[in-house]
Amino acid sequence: MPGGKITLGQIDSLSKTSFPLCMRQLHEALRRDHHLKHGGRLQYGLFIKGIGLTLEEALMFWRSEFTKIMEVDKFDKGYAYNVRHSFGKEGKRTDYTPYSCMKIIMSNHPGQGDYHGCPFRHYDADILRQKLVAYGVPHPAIKEIQELVKDSHYQLACARYFEVTHKVSLPHADAINHPNKYVEESRRVHEQ
Ligand code: SF4
Repeated sequence: MPGGKITLGQIDSLSKTSFPLCMRQLHEALRRDHHLKHGGRLQYGLFIKGIGLTLEEALMFWRSEFTKIMEVDKFDKGYAYNVRHSFGKEGKRTDYTPYSCMKIIMSNHPGQGDYHGCPFRHYDADILRQKLVAYGVPHPAIKEIQELVKDSHYQLACARYFEVTHKVSLPHADAINHPNKYVEESRRVHEQ
């Protein structure tokens, strides 16, 4: 991974500079609500594993948020198993891989109170616009992104968001096809 291993202490700032919209919204929801529903825990949990957090760091991360609203014992009994499971340390011991954009876009449509999914695919148009404004995307670029979304080009919309927020041109249109790839590319740009 460009920029070296990511540590737990970097995750808040990295979420602002280098996470794609899908993961930034999950990170913000977790920090705000100290909880994520099942779909969010899966999508975000595998992503942070993919950016390089160890099992111990991931457990520490989830525990530190969830125990703001529940007893440590409840976290350990109800949630820690799933964290270990996603690292292949429980059950069938499958070492699950982080979800690709296609998987996030095509499956498990988020419902009420969910924060997983792809904002370009699953957000209501006005909520997406507000989010892009809040994250400092200039008006003309928001228009371009909205056009791409309208034509169901969700990954292209994400790539355009990347280009605008990083002030670079991506080498090819399908450069963003995985949230973890997005982080890698972003760190590469920030390193230059
Ligand atoms: Fe995340 Fe991929 Fe959607 Fe971008 S296109 S927000 S990386 S799921």
